[in-house]
Amino acid sequence: MVERERNKFVRFLDLKWADINCDLHLHTSRTDGKAGPKAIIKYAIERGLRRIAFTEHVRRDTKWFHEFTAELCKEREIHPQIEVLIGCEAKAIDRQGSLDATEEIINECDIVLGCVHRFPDGTGAYTDFSTLSQEQMAQIEFELTLGLLEAAPIDVLAHPGGMYFRRYSTDIPRDIMRTILRKSLERKIAVEVNTSYLGDFASFLSLCAEINPYVSIGSDMHSLEQLGECRDRLRKYGIGVEE
Ligand SMILES: [Zn+2]
Ligand SMILES: [Zn+2]
Repeated sequence: MVERERNKFVRFLDLKWADINCDLHLHTSRTDGKAGPKAIIKYAIERGLRRIAFTEHVRRDTKWFHEFTAELCKEREIHPQIEVLIGCEAKAIDRQGSLDATEEIINECDIVLGCVHRFPDGTGAYTDFSTLSQEQMAQIEFELTLGLLEAAPIDVLAHPGGMYFRRYSTDIPRDIMRTILRKSLERKIAVEVNTSYLGDFASFLSLCAEINPYVSIGSDMHSLEQLGECRDRLRKYGIGVEE
């Protein structure tokens, strides 16, 4: 394991080109992505990315993680021109910040993304989103997120408000997002700026400018053409572009 990625994140207002020229949220054909590591690394080099992180979906019963890590280690050895991080994306399984990942998996990672994907109902099952009101959706996602920020062994909070956005095609209420960003500063957990789960990108950036959290840049890439998407979007907004 290299130095955990957490130590390298910078705060939003300090972002330079070198900090945004990366993509730290990628999925491969090992889970629900379309491309394999080789093709992704090759394309990342072509796109001029300085750093990428493979952050596959894992669960507590995932058996292939060690083997996958070994495959990635080989690839990064033969591509020294780009920094390749090995990580995972794990979901919250309760409101206390427990992750759907084993300690062995976490220990093999350079970077761990924590996220809310489903709403555990406390009995080992998950709540059907369609039974919830819009307010309940926001509140439960918020509580699960707070658990991650308070206690989970994570470096990055992936796609905050993402489930709410996917269901309503609008961002989680701004006061909730503001509290999430503020809370992230307590344990210096980076909040992900992403291109897949935000309705109003500019509004999210203005909140980042207000709270100035540590940030991670991730496209949640599932197919190659999405690689570096978040970097390119930030650049359009003038973030990390040196005078
Ligand atoms: Zn996710
Ligand atoms: Zn993802």
